[in-house]
Amino acid sequence: MKTLFLNPPSFDGFDGGAGSRYQARREIRSFWYPTWLAQPAALIPDSRLIDAPARDLSLEDIRPVVRDYELVVMHTSTPSFHGDVKVAEALKAENPNILLGFVGAHVAVSPEASVAASDAIDFVAGSEFDFTIKEIADGRPLSEVDGITWKRDGAVIRNPERAILHDMDQLPYVSPVYERDLVIEDYFIGYLLHPYLSLYTGRGCKSRCTFCLWPQTIGGHTYRTRSPEHVIEEIAQAKKMFPQVREFFFDDDTFTDDRPRAEAIARGLGKLGVTWSCNAKANVPYDTLKVMRDNGLRLLLVGYESGNQQILHNIKKGMRIEVAKQFSKDCHKLGITIHGTFIVGLPGETRETIEETIRYAMEINPHTIQVSLAAPYPGTFLYDQAVENNWLVNEAKEMVQGEGFQISSIAYPHLSQEEIFEAVATFYKRFYFRPRKIADITMEMLMSWDMMKRRLREGVEFMHFLRAREI
Ligand code: SF4
Repeated sequence: MKTLFLNPPSFDGFDGGAGSRYQARREIRSFWYPTWLAQPAALIPDSRLIDAPARDLSLEDIRPVVRDYELVVMHTSTPSFHGDVKVAEALKAENPNILLGFVGAHVAVSPEASVAASDAIDFVAGSEFDFTIKEIADGRPLSEVDGITWKRDGAVIRNPERAILHDMDQLPYVSPVYERDLVIEDYFIGYLLHPYLSLYTGRGCKSRCTFCLWPQTIGGHTYRTRSPEHVIEEIAQAKKMFPQVREFFFDDDTFTDDRPRAEAIARGLGKLGVTWSCNAKANVPYDTLKVMRDNGLRLLLVGYESGNQQILHNIKKGMRIEVAKQFSKDCHKLGITIHGTFIVGLPGETRETIEETIRYAMEINPHTIQVSLAAPYPGTFLYDQAVENNWLVNEAKEMVQGEGFQISSIAYPHLSQEEIFEAVATFYKRFYFRPRKIADITMEMLMSWDMMKRRLREGVEFMHFLRAREI
Protein backbone atom coordinates (compact mmCIF):
# COMPACT_ATOMS: atom_id res chain seq x y z
CA MET A 1 0.00 0.00 0.00
CA LYS A 2 1.21 3.48 -0.74
CA THR A 3 1.98 4.75 2.75
CA LEU A 4 2.15 8.21 4.27
CA PHE A 5 3.61 8.73 7.76
CA LEU A 6 2.37 11.94 9.29
CA ASN A 7 3.36 14.01 12.29
CA PRO A 8 0.10 15.94 12.16
CA PRO A 9 -0.29 19.72 12.17
CA SER A 10 -0.91 20.95 15.69
CA PHE A 11 -0.42 24.01 17.91
CA ASP A 12 2.02 26.51 16.42
CA GLY A 13 5.52 25.27 17.29
CA PHE A 14 4.19 22.16 19.06
CA ASP A 15 6.92 19.58 19.57
CA GLY A 16 4.72 16.59 20.28
CA GLY A 17 5.85 14.41 17.49
CA ALA A 18 7.38 11.05 17.08
CA GLY A 19 10.59 11.87 18.87
CA SER A 20 9.58 14.16 21.68
CA ARG A 21 9.45 12.99 25.28
CA TYR A 22 7.74 16.11 26.62
CA GLN A 23 4.92 16.81 24.22
CA ALA A 24 4.50 20.54 24.42
CA ARG A 25 5.49 23.79 22.82
CA ARG A 26 8.86 24.79 24.26
CA GLU A 27 10.00 28.06 25.75
CA ILE A 28 12.22 28.32 22.69
CA ARG A 29 10.98 26.95 19.35
CA SER A 30 12.60 23.55 18.88
CA PHE A 31 11.86 20.19 17.36
CA TRP A 32 13.09 16.66 17.78
CA TYR A 33 13.33 14.44 14.72
CA PRO A 34 10.27 12.22 14.12
CA THR A 35 12.46 9.15 14.46
CA TRP A 36 9.69 6.81 15.62
CA LEU A 37 7.93 7.38 12.28
CA ALA A 38 11.12 7.38 10.22
CA GLN A 39 11.90 3.89 11.47
CA PRO A 40 8.88 2.10 9.92
CA ALA A 41 9.14 4.45 6.93
CA ALA A 42 12.60 2.98 6.36
CA LEU A 43 11.02 -0.49 6.14
CA ILE A 44 8.52 0.51 3.45
CA PRO A 45 9.94 1.49 0.06
CA ASP A 46 8.24 4.48 -1.59
CA SER A 47 6.59 5.61 1.63
CA ARG A 48 6.74 9.27 2.61
CA LEU A 49 7.19 10.99 5.97
CA ILE A 50 5.73 14.45 6.56
CA ASP A 51 6.56 16.34 9.74
CA ALA A 52 3.92 19.07 9.62
CA PRO A 53 4.85 21.12 12.75
CA ALA A 54 8.53 21.27 11.87
CA ARG A 55 7.71 22.27 8.25
CA ASP A 56 5.01 24.71 9.38
CA LEU A 57 2.40 22.87 7.33
CA SER A 58 -1.28 23.31 8.04
CA LEU A 59 -4.16 20.91 7.59
CA GLU A 60 -4.93 22.67 4.31
CA ASP A 61 -1.44 21.79 3.08
CA ILE A 62 -1.87 18.13 4.00
CA ARG A 63 -5.39 17.57 2.69
CA PRO A 64 -4.54 17.27 -1.02
CA VAL A 65 -1.54 15.05 -0.29
CA VAL A 66 -3.63 12.20 1.15
CA ARG A 67 -5.51 11.80 -2.12
CA ASP A 68 -2.45 9.92 -3.41
CA TYR A 69 -2.15 7.46 -0.53
CA GLU A 70 -3.77 4.21 0.58
CA LEU A 71 -2.42 3.98 4.14
CA VAL A 72 -1.92 6.95 6.49
CA VAL A 73 -0.10 6.44 9.81
CA MET A 74 -0.34 9.34 12.25
CA HIS A 75 1.68 9.79 15.41
CA THR A 76 -0.31 11.03 18.39
CA SER A 77 0.26 11.96 22.02
CA THR A 78 -1.94 12.52 25.05
CA PRO A 79 -1.82 16.35 24.86
CA SER A 80 -2.51 16.43 21.12
CA PHE A 81 -4.92 13.49 20.80
CA HIS A 82 -8.16 15.48 20.38
CA GLY A 83 -6.62 17.74 17.76
CA ASP A 84 -5.10 14.74 15.97
CA VAL A 85 -8.54 13.08 15.78
CA LYS A 86 -9.89 16.18 14.04
CA VAL A 87 -7.02 16.02 11.54
CA ALA A 88 -7.77 12.31 10.95
CA GLU A 89 -11.45 13.09 10.31
CA ALA A 90 -10.56 15.82 7.82
CA LEU A 91 -8.16 13.51 5.98
CA LYS A 92 -10.70 10.71 5.86
CA ALA A 93 -13.28 13.14 4.47
CA GLU A 94 -10.75 14.13 1.80
CA ASN A 95 -10.04 10.53 0.83
CA PRO A 96 -12.54 8.03 2.30
CA ASN A 97 -10.57 5.12 0.80
CA ILE A 98 -7.52 5.48 3.01
CA LEU A 99 -6.82 3.07 5.82
CA LEU A 100 -5.87 5.31 8.75
CA GLY A 101 -4.02 4.30 11.90
CA PHE A 102 -2.64 6.04 14.99
CA VAL A 103 0.64 5.14 16.69
CA GLY A 104 2.41 6.40 19.83
CA ALA A 105 2.46 5.99 23.59
CA HIS A 106 -1.07 7.36 24.02
CA VAL A 107 -2.65 4.60 21.94
CA ALA A 108 -0.36 1.99 23.51
CA VAL A 109 -1.90 2.87 26.88
CA SER A 110 -5.54 3.20 25.82
CA PRO A 111 -5.96 1.22 22.58
CA GLU A 112 -9.70 0.51 22.81
CA ALA A 113 -10.73 4.02 23.78
CA SER A 114 -8.41 5.50 21.15
CA VAL A 115 -9.71 3.44 18.24
CA ALA A 116 -13.29 4.06 19.38
CA ALA A 117 -12.72 7.83 19.55
CA SER A 118 -13.65 8.35 15.89
CA ASP A 119 -14.91 6.48 12.85
CA ALA A 120 -11.96 7.96 11.01
CA ILE A 121 -9.50 5.76 12.94
CA ASP A 122 -9.31 2.25 11.50
CA PHE A 123 -6.64 0.88 13.81
CA VAL A 124 -4.15 1.85 16.49
CA ALA A 125 -0.75 0.22 16.97
CA GLY A 126 0.76 0.27 20.42
CA SER A 127 4.20 -0.69 21.70
CA GLU A 128 6.82 -1.11 18.96
CA PHE A 129 4.98 -0.64 15.71
CA ASP A 130 7.72 -0.82 13.06
CA PHE A 131 6.97 -4.30 11.72
CA THR A 132 3.27 -3.95 12.57
CA ILE A 133 2.99 -1.11 10.07
CA LYS A 134 5.14 -2.90 7.53
CA GLU A 135 2.82 -5.92 7.59
CA ILE A 136 -0.22 -3.68 7.09
CA ALA A 137 1.50 -1.85 4.23
CA ASP A 138 2.34 -5.23 2.69
CA GLY A 139 -1.40 -5.95 2.57
CA ARG A 140 -1.76 -8.43 5.42
CA PRO A 141 -5.38 -8.49 6.68
CA LEU A 142 -5.79 -6.56 9.94
CA SER A 143 -7.11 -9.72 11.62
CA GLU A 144 -3.65 -11.28 11.16
CA VAL A 145 -1.47 -8.39 12.35
CA ASP A 146 -0.13 -8.63 15.90
CA GLY A 147 0.03 -5.46 17.99
CA ILE A 148 -3.06 -3.62 16.74
CA THR A 149 -6.52 -2.78 18.02
CA TRP A 150 -8.99 -2.25 15.20
CA LYS A 151 -12.67 -2.19 14.29
CA ARG A 152 -14.83 -4.65 12.37
CA ASP A 153 -18.52 -3.85 11.86
CA GLY A 154 -18.36 -1.37 14.70
CA ALA A 155 -16.86 -3.88 17.17
CA VAL A 156 -13.44 -3.12 18.68
CA ILE A 157 -11.01 -6.04 18.37
CA ARG A 158 -7.69 -6.30 20.16
CA ASN A 159 -5.19 -8.61 18.45
CA PRO A 160 -2.39 -10.42 20.32
CA GLU A 161 0.51 -8.23 21.47
CA ARG A 162 3.45 -7.89 19.13
CA ALA A 163 6.61 -9.60 20.37
CA ILE A 164 9.23 -7.11 21.49
CA LEU A 165 12.13 -6.65 19.11
CA HIS A 166 15.45 -7.91 20.46
CA ASP A 167 17.69 -7.91 17.40
CA MET A 168 17.80 -4.17 16.87
CA ASP A 169 20.15 -4.54 13.89
CA GLN A 170 17.06 -5.72 11.98
CA LEU A 171 15.96 -2.11 11.82
CA PRO A 172 17.21 -0.30 8.74
CA TYR A 173 18.93 3.08 9.02
CA VAL A 174 16.68 6.11 9.42
CA SER A 175 19.07 8.64 7.91
CA PRO A 176 18.10 7.81 4.27
CA VAL A 177 14.49 8.64 5.23
CA TYR A 178 15.65 11.94 6.72
CA GLU A 179 17.48 12.67 3.47
CA ARG A 180 14.48 11.74 1.33
CA ASP A 181 11.69 13.45 3.29
CA LEU A 182 12.95 15.98 5.84
CA VAL A 183 14.76 19.29 5.75
CA ILE A 184 17.29 18.78 8.48
CA GLU A 185 17.74 22.52 9.02
CA ASP A 186 14.16 22.55 10.41
CA TYR A 187 15.36 20.77 13.52
CA PHE A 188 16.59 23.15 16.17
CA ILE A 189 17.40 22.23 19.75
CA GLY A 190 18.79 25.15 21.75
CA TYR A 191 21.75 23.32 23.26
CA LEU A 192 22.78 21.32 20.18
CA LEU A 193 24.92 22.66 17.34
CA HIS A 194 22.89 23.42 14.27
CA PRO A 195 22.19 21.57 12.12
CA TYR A 196 22.18 18.44 14.23
CA LEU A 197 21.01 14.95 13.37
CA SER A 198 19.55 12.57 15.92
CA LEU A 199 18.75 8.88 15.90
CA TYR A 200 18.50 5.95 18.29
CA THR A 201 21.10 3.24 18.83
CA GLY A 202 18.81 1.29 21.14
CA ARG A 203 15.48 1.33 22.95
CA GLY A 204 14.48 0.93 26.59
CA CYS A 205 15.99 2.11 29.86
CA LYS A 206 17.13 0.09 32.87
CA SER A 207 15.85 2.74 35.29
CA ARG A 208 12.29 2.97 36.53
CA CYS A 209 11.67 6.65 37.06
CA THR A 210 7.98 6.90 37.86
CA PHE A 211 7.25 9.89 35.60
CA CYS A 212 9.10 8.68 32.53
CA LEU A 213 6.82 7.86 29.63
CA TRP A 214 8.65 5.79 27.09
CA PRO A 215 10.16 2.94 29.13
CA GLN A 216 6.80 2.43 30.85
CA THR A 217 4.78 2.40 27.64
CA ILE A 218 6.83 1.45 24.59
CA GLY A 219 10.52 0.84 25.22
CA GLY A 220 10.55 -1.33 28.37
CA HIS A 221 13.22 -1.66 31.03
CA THR A 222 15.81 -3.62 29.11
CA TYR A 223 18.21 -1.58 27.04
CA ARG A 224 18.03 -3.33 23.65
CA THR A 225 20.77 -2.13 21.41
CA ARG A 226 22.11 -2.04 17.90
CA SER A 227 25.64 -3.36 17.55
CA PRO A 228 28.42 -0.74 17.61
CA GLU A 229 29.32 -1.65 14.01
CA HIS A 230 25.74 -1.01 12.85
CA VAL A 231 25.71 2.40 14.55
CA ILE A 232 29.12 3.46 13.31
CA GLU A 233 28.32 2.43 9.74
CA GLU A 234 25.15 4.55 9.79
CA ILE A 235 27.00 7.57 11.12
CA ALA A 236 29.71 7.10 8.46
CA GLN A 237 27.00 7.10 5.79
CA ALA A 238 25.12 10.01 7.37
CA LYS A 239 28.30 12.05 7.51
CA LYS A 240 28.62 11.74 3.72
CA MET A 241 24.90 12.27 3.18
CA PHE A 242 24.76 15.42 5.33
CA PRO A 243 28.13 17.17 5.21
CA GLN A 244 26.49 20.22 6.85
CA VAL A 245 25.68 18.35 10.10
CA ARG A 246 27.68 19.78 12.99
CA GLU A 247 26.63 17.32 15.67
CA PHE A 248 25.13 13.81 15.92
CA PHE A 249 22.84 13.16 18.86
CA PHE A 250 22.03 9.68 20.21
CA ASP A 251 18.55 9.98 21.63
CA ASP A 252 18.44 6.60 23.38
CA ASP A 253 16.80 6.98 26.79
CA THR A 254 20.15 6.45 28.51
CA PHE A 255 22.95 5.86 25.99
CA THR A 256 25.41 5.30 28.85
CA ASP A 257 23.41 2.41 30.38
CA ASP A 258 25.80 -0.04 28.67
CA ARG A 259 29.22 1.50 29.29
CA PRO A 260 31.48 -0.95 27.38
CA ARG A 261 29.25 -0.51 24.34
CA ALA A 262 29.15 3.28 24.75
CA GLU A 263 32.95 3.26 24.82
CA ALA A 264 33.14 0.99 21.76
CA ILE A 265 30.82 3.29 19.80
CA ALA A 266 32.79 6.31 21.01
CA ARG A 267 36.04 4.84 19.70
CA GLY A 268 34.43 4.20 16.31
CA LEU A 269 33.08 7.75 16.20
CA GLY A 270 36.50 9.07 17.15
CA LYS A 271 37.91 7.44 14.00
CA LEU A 272 35.20 9.15 11.94
CA GLY A 273 36.12 12.49 13.48
CA VAL A 274 32.54 13.55 14.23
CA THR A 275 31.20 15.68 17.08
CA TRP A 276 28.45 13.94 19.00
CA SER A 277 26.29 14.07 22.11
CA CYS A 278 23.81 11.83 23.93
CA ASN A 279 21.45 11.33 26.86
CA ALA A 280 23.14 10.14 30.05
CA LYS A 281 22.36 9.44 33.67
CA ALA A 282 24.44 11.41 36.19
CA ASN A 283 26.36 8.32 37.25
CA VAL A 284 28.88 7.81 34.45
CA PRO A 285 32.37 7.26 35.88
CA TYR A 286 35.28 9.52 34.97
CA ASP A 287 37.08 6.89 32.87
CA THR A 288 34.11 6.34 30.58
CA LEU A 289 33.51 10.08 30.31
CA LYS A 290 37.11 10.51 29.30
CA VAL A 291 36.94 7.85 26.59
CA MET A 292 33.83 9.52 25.21
CA ARG A 293 35.29 13.02 25.41
CA ASP A 294 38.53 11.90 23.74
CA ASN A 295 36.45 10.58 20.86
CA GLY A 296 34.31 13.58 20.00
CA LEU A 297 31.69 13.75 22.77
CA ARG A 298 30.69 17.41 23.17
CA LEU A 299 27.56 17.40 25.31
CA LEU A 300 25.53 15.24 27.66
CA LEU A 301 21.83 15.72 28.26
CA VAL A 302 21.35 14.76 31.88
CA GLY A 303 18.11 14.28 33.81
CA TYR A 304 18.91 15.54 37.33
CA GLU A 305 15.21 16.12 38.06
CA SER A 306 15.58 17.34 41.68
CA GLY A 307 18.18 18.45 44.18
CA ASN A 308 16.33 16.76 47.02
CA GLN A 309 17.35 13.20 47.82
CA GLN A 310 13.94 12.19 49.16
CA ILE A 311 12.25 13.29 45.94
CA LEU A 312 14.77 11.24 43.95
CA HIS A 313 13.79 8.25 46.10
CA ASN A 314 10.09 9.04 45.66
CA ILE A 315 10.40 8.97 41.88
CA LYS A 316 12.66 5.87 41.92
CA LYS A 317 15.43 7.75 40.12
CA GLY A 318 18.09 5.43 41.48
CA MET A 319 20.48 8.35 41.89
CA ARG A 320 22.39 9.80 44.82
CA ILE A 321 22.94 13.53 44.94
CA GLU A 322 26.64 13.20 45.79
CA VAL A 323 27.20 10.86 42.81
CA ALA A 324 25.50 13.39 40.53
CA LYS A 325 27.67 16.17 41.96
CA GLN A 326 30.85 14.19 41.35
CA PHE A 327 29.72 13.34 37.81
CA SER A 328 29.06 17.05 37.13
CA LYS A 329 32.51 18.00 38.45
CA ASP A 330 34.09 15.34 36.23
CA CYS A 331 32.28 16.68 33.18
CA HIS A 332 33.40 20.24 33.93
CA LYS A 333 36.96 19.03 34.39
CA LEU A 334 36.89 17.21 31.05
CA GLY A 335 35.24 20.11 29.25
CA ILE A 336 32.04 18.16 28.52
CA THR A 337 29.06 20.53 28.22
CA ILE A 338 25.98 19.57 30.23
CA HIS A 339 22.38 20.38 29.45
CA GLY A 340 20.62 19.57 32.73
CA THR A 341 16.92 18.85 33.00
CA PHE A 342 14.86 19.45 36.14
CA ILE A 343 11.24 18.90 37.09
CA VAL A 344 9.16 20.85 39.58
CA GLY A 345 6.08 19.43 41.24
CA LEU A 346 7.19 15.82 41.70
CA PRO A 347 5.81 13.88 44.68
CA GLY A 348 7.31 15.25 47.88
CA GLU A 349 7.82 18.74 46.43
CA THR A 350 7.50 21.67 48.82
CA ARG A 351 8.50 25.34 48.63
CA GLU A 352 11.71 24.34 50.42
CA THR A 353 12.59 21.53 48.00
CA ILE A 354 12.04 23.86 45.02
CA GLU A 355 14.50 26.28 46.61
CA GLU A 356 16.89 23.39 47.30
CA THR A 357 16.74 22.29 43.66
CA ILE A 358 17.34 25.80 42.33
CA ARG A 359 20.40 26.12 44.58
CA TYR A 360 21.57 22.64 43.53
CA ALA A 361 21.26 23.56 39.84
CA MET A 362 23.34 26.70 40.42
CA GLU A 363 25.94 24.67 42.32
CA ILE A 364 26.41 21.93 39.73
CA ASN A 365 26.03 24.62 37.06
CA PRO A 366 25.10 22.85 33.80
CA HIS A 367 25.77 25.06 30.80
CA THR A 368 22.03 25.22 30.01
CA ILE A 369 18.93 23.85 31.70
CA GLN A 370 15.39 22.81 30.98
CA VAL A 371 12.79 23.06 33.71
CA SER A 372 9.57 21.11 33.24
CA LEU A 373 6.39 20.71 35.19
CA ALA A 374 5.74 17.22 36.53
CA ALA A 375 3.63 15.62 33.81
CA PRO A 376 1.51 12.62 34.81
CA TYR A 377 1.18 10.92 31.43
CA PRO A 378 -1.34 8.08 31.37
CA GLY A 379 0.52 4.78 31.46
CA THR A 380 3.05 5.96 34.04
CA PHE A 381 3.31 5.07 37.71
CA LEU A 382 3.10 8.80 38.45
CA TYR A 383 -0.26 9.03 36.73
CA ASP A 384 -1.73 6.17 38.78
CA GLN A 385 -0.26 7.68 41.93
CA ALA A 386 -1.75 11.09 41.09
CA VAL A 387 -5.19 9.62 40.46
CA GLU A 388 -5.05 7.53 43.65
CA ASN A 389 -4.01 10.51 45.77
CA ASN A 390 -6.26 13.06 44.12
CA TRP A 391 -3.36 15.19 42.90
CA LEU A 392 -4.73 15.78 39.39
CA VAL A 393 -6.10 19.28 39.17
CA ASN A 394 -8.16 19.43 36.03
CA GLU A 395 -11.09 17.19 35.32
CA ALA A 396 -10.40 17.12 31.60
CA LYS A 397 -6.85 15.94 32.36
CA GLU A 398 -5.50 18.47 29.84
CA MET A 399 -1.70 18.67 29.79
CA VAL A 400 -1.22 21.73 27.59
CA GLN A 401 -3.11 24.99 27.24
CA GLY A 402 -4.47 26.69 24.12
CA GLU A 403 -1.09 27.68 22.70
CA GLY A 404 0.41 24.27 23.38
CA PHE A 405 2.53 25.25 26.42
CA GLN A 406 2.62 22.76 29.28
CA ILE A 407 0.19 23.39 32.15
CA SER A 408 0.57 22.21 35.68
CA SER A 409 -1.62 19.14 36.09
CA ILE A 410 -0.62 18.27 39.64
CA ALA A 411 -1.16 20.02 42.97
CA TYR A 412 -0.70 18.99 46.57
CA PRO A 413 -2.55 20.14 49.70
CA HIS A 414 0.56 22.09 50.74
CA LEU A 415 1.62 23.31 47.25
CA SER A 416 -0.82 24.75 44.76
CA GLN A 417 -0.91 24.35 41.00
CA GLU A 418 -0.10 28.07 40.65
CA GLU A 419 2.95 27.85 42.90
CA ILE A 420 4.29 24.90 40.92
CA PHE A 421 3.62 26.70 37.63
CA GLU A 422 5.31 29.90 38.75
CA ALA A 423 8.31 27.99 40.05
CA VAL A 424 9.36 27.19 36.47
CA ALA A 425 9.86 30.85 35.54
CA THR A 426 11.47 31.60 38.90
CA PHE A 427 13.86 28.68 38.40
CA TYR A 428 14.89 29.89 34.94
CA LYS A 429 15.36 33.48 36.08
CA ARG A 430 17.41 32.56 39.15
CA PHE A 431 19.59 30.22 37.09
CA TYR A 432 20.22 32.41 34.05
CA PHE A 433 20.08 35.94 35.42
CA ARG A 434 23.22 35.74 37.53
CA PRO A 435 26.56 37.31 36.63
CA ARG A 436 28.45 34.03 36.21
CA LYS A 437 25.92 32.59 33.76
CA ILE A 438 25.48 35.83 31.85
CA ALA A 439 29.27 36.01 31.45
CA ASP A 440 29.42 32.37 30.21
CA ILE A 441 26.73 32.92 27.61
CA THR A 442 28.10 36.29 26.50
CA MET A 443 31.51 34.67 26.01
CA GLU A 444 29.92 31.88 23.97
CA MET A 445 28.20 34.49 21.77
CA LEU A 446 31.37 36.51 21.28
CA MET A 447 33.20 33.41 20.07
CA SER A 448 30.80 32.79 17.20
CA TRP A 449 28.60 35.00 15.05
CA ASP A 450 26.24 32.04 14.43
CA MET A 451 25.86 31.55 18.17
CA MET A 452 25.32 35.28 18.64
CA LYS A 453 22.39 35.32 16.18
CA ARG A 454 20.94 32.17 17.64
CA ARG A 455 21.14 33.17 21.30
CA LEU A 456 19.64 36.56 20.52
CA ARG A 457 16.68 34.90 18.77
CA GLU A 458 16.28 32.44 21.63
CA GLY A 459 16.58 35.28 24.14
CA VAL A 460 13.64 37.08 22.53
CA GLU A 461 11.53 33.88 22.57
CA PHE A 462 12.54 33.17 26.15
CA MET A 463 11.56 36.65 27.33
CA HIS A 464 8.26 36.23 25.52
CA PHE A 465 7.75 32.95 27.41
CA LEU A 466 8.48 34.62 30.75
CA ARG A 467 6.16 37.52 29.98
CA ALA A 468 3.41 35.09 28.97
CA ARG A 469 3.59 33.78 32.51
CA GLU A 470 3.20 37.32 33.82
CA ILE A 471 5.99 36.93 36.28
S1 SF4 B 1 16.88 7.32 33.58
FE1 SF4 B 1 15.92 8.82 32.19
S2 SF4 B 1 15.13 7.63 30.47
FE2 SF4 B 1 15.55 6.19 32.14
S3 SF4 B 1 13.59 5.93 33.20
FE3 SF4 B 1 14.75 7.57 34.25
S4 SF4 B 1 14.10 9.51 33.26
FE4 SF4 B 1 13.48 7.79 31.94
